[in-house]
Amino acid sequence: MTMMKATVFVAPGRIELVDKPIPDVGPNDALIRITTTTICGTDVHILKGEYPVKPGLTIGHEPVGVIEKLGSAVQGYTEGQRVIAGAICPNFNSYAAQDGAPSQDGSYLIPSGQCGRHGYKATAGWRFGNLIDGTQAEYVLVPDAQANLAPIPDGLTDEQVLMCPDIMSTGFKGAENANIRLGDTVAVFAQGPIGLCATAGARLLGATTVIAVDGNDHRLGVSKVMGADVTLNFRNCDVVDEILKLTDGRGVDSAIEALGTQGTFESALRILKPGGTLSSLGVYSSDLKIPLGAFAAGLGDHKINTALCPGGKERMRRLMNVVASERVDLGVLVTHRYKLDDIVAAYELFANQRDGVLKVAIQP
Ligand SMILES: [Zn+2]
Repeated sequence: MTMMKATVFVAPGRIELVDKPIPDVGPNDALIRITTTTICGTDVHILKGEYPVKPGLTIGHEPVGVIEKLGSAVQGYTEGQRVIAGAICPNFNSYAAQDGAPSQDGSYLIPSGQCGRHGYKATAGWRFGNLIDGTQAEYVLVPDAQANLAPIPDGLTDEQVLMCPDIMSTGFKGAENANIRLGDTVAVFAQGPIGLCATAGARLLGATTVIAVDGNDHRLGVSKVMGADVTLNFRNCDVVDEILKLTDGRGVDSAIEALGTQGTFESALRILKPGGTLSSLGVYSSDLKIPLGAFAAGLGDHKINTALCPGGKERMRRLMNVVASERVDLGVLVTHRYKLDDIVAAYELFANQRDGVLKVAIQP
C-alpha cells in the first residue's frame, strides 16, 4: 500500500478528504498509523481561512496511533508500539529548546536563512497541520521522533489520551503559567475544551476557589465536573462586578484567559488583584488594548504570561500520568465520534458548536 486518505485544506471554507502518498521515513522520523485523532478550534480557523496554511496541506495536530515504521536513527521504540506525540513537536537540539522555549523553535525551517543560526521563530514548534502534513489522515510522519514520541501506558484507551497532545497540555500550561498557590482564587475565562482543562489544572495545582466564566450553560455545567466552584454566565450577569464582589473587592490571585478576545482579556485584567498573574492562552486576531485603570498605569506589579502548547515526550508522559492516576477524567470532553471518511460532517458539527459538542474523536 502506498496511498492513504488525508484531510486537506483546499481553500477558505473548504476541506476535503483526498488520497495522498504515504510519506517516506527519514532517519529521524517515525511513521505513525493514526488510530484516533480530533479536530481543534485552530483547525476551524484554518478551515475558515482565518489562519493561513498552504492549500493541499493535511490538517490536524492531535495524534494517537501505532508506530508503523521507525527512522534508522530513532532508538528505544518498537514498531507496533502505541504512542502519542505532542501537537507541538520541536527539534529539542535547538537554541530555543535549550533556552526553555521549545515551542518557539523554527531551527528546522531555514537552516541558513532569515532565522539565521539561532532558529528562534514564534510558534514554529507547531509543525503538524501548520507547516508539515498533519494528523487527520491514516498516517502521519513525526519529525524528531526520538524527542517527540511518547509511549501510551498500558490500560489507557485512545480516547483517554486524546486530549494530551494539545488540549490538556495547553490548558494545564495556562494553569501552570498562572503561578497558582495553595488556597488561591482563580478565574478562568471561557470554558471550551482548553478552558475546561485550565479549570481542572487550577484545581489540581491547589486553587481552592475556581471561578469559571462562559456564555454557555452546558459548558458551565461541565466546568463543575472539571473542578469549578463557582460558575458565571456572562449573559446573565456583569462578570467583573460579580467577581469583585466574590473577592471582597480584592480581585483574584490569577486569571486565565482561554479564548483570545479583547473582552475576555480586558475582564481578566480588571478582576486581577495587584501583584496577580494573568495567564493568556487565547489566540488573538487583532491588536489588544490594555485598559489603563485596570493596568494601574503600569505600576500594579501585574504579571502577564503567554504560552503555546508545550510538546515533547516528557510533557506527554506527565500528562498521561495525570490521566492514569485518575486525578482528572477528560473522557467527558469526547462528546461525538466519527469515521475519517465522514470528517467533513464532523467539521460541520464542531465548527457550529451544534449538539453540545466539546471534542470529536475521529477514527480512520
Ligand atoms: Zn489545537
